Amino acid sequence: MDRAMRAWSVVRPGPVEEGSLRLVEKPVPVPAEDELLVRVRACGVCRTDLHVTEGDLPLHRVGVTPGHEIVGVVAGAGPAVSGFAPGDRVGVAWLRRTDGSCAYCARGAENLCPRSEYTGWYADGGYAEYTTVPAAFAYRLPDDAPDVALAPLLCAGIIGHRALRRAALPPGGRLGLYGFGGSAHLCAQVALAEGARVHVMTRGAAARRLALELGAASAQDAYAPPPERLDSAILFAPVGTLVPVALRALDRGGVLAVAGIHLTDTPPLHYETELFYEKELRSVASNTRADGREFLALATRFGVRATTHPYPMSRAAQALADLKAGRFDGAAVLVNDLS
Ligand SMILES: [Zn+2]
Ligand SMILES: [Zn+2]
Repeated sequence: MDRAMRAWSVVRPGPVEEGSLRLVEKPVPVPAEDELLVRVRACGVCRTDLHVTEGDLPLHRVGVTPGHEIVGVVAGAGPAVSGFAPGDRVGVAWLRRTDGSCAYCARGAENLCPRSEYTGWYADGGYAEYTTVPAAFAYRLPDDAPDVALAPLLCAGIIGHRALRRAALPPGGRLGLYGFGGSAHLCAQVALAEGARVHVMTRGAAARRLALELGAASAQDAYAPPPERLDSAILFAPVGTLVPVALRALDRGGVLAVAGIHLTDTPPLHYETELFYEKELRSVASNTRADGREFLALATRFGVRATTHPYPMSRAAQALADLKAGRFDGAAVLVNDLS
């Protein structure tokens, strides 16, 4: 007979303040033959969870459990899994599975795989007592860091890192960050450790303070021009009206990477001031496992630390509502109090 567990479930996508995310009972998942069963210890709160909950992203699974920044321990495994033992600490991230056989996978761009699946969207994620992950997509985690500190690295950190690489920042270059939440404040630490000069444009006073504490050269309002031209910029805020603002801040040959999976509409671009002189506008789609491993190694080497705001997992809906309202800076992390 199935064991039951408590899990958050997107019953009907809609505003999170109106109860679209509910705490329900579900069976403890049974791992497929190549999967691990993971007992969740902590799960970071990502803006994508809000997009799944509110219907900005189409639902792929009725009643899905969000959450894809999961730190947990192995509690079981399918028969085809080797190399993991019960009690091993693992990380579960956004990219859950690819087909491993298409042209994109073959050239190392598994983030573009048309048959890829995502944790907490296509399959139940980490706002629960237990979750599953294909063993080949689980990350081994450094031993010394606490669960809560590691969780935000698994999406916010990894995606921010891919965005930084997509932004093609030259060594010692000038980097602009638009928006300064969970992802940006981790990305900033790697960029600074690698010698960049970082300028932060964001609306929140607390976020601007955090940026300066971490070593940013300047921090100003989201729509204010930085004090110097930028070689590269990353748009973390899901706000399309910032696209031309960021493009105008770029120097000749500069690159703007849009880090979000969701972006409000952009206004028409003015070719002469916003794109000419070989400025580039790029999107960032998910990440490869190689991105994840590279970032986790750099995070350990540079001592990258997430500014975290722990919530009991039983208050996940409140954490999402607080994220939506911008009530904290850094990254919210749910600590499992369901079991
Ligand atoms: Zn593929
Ligand atoms: Zn995420």
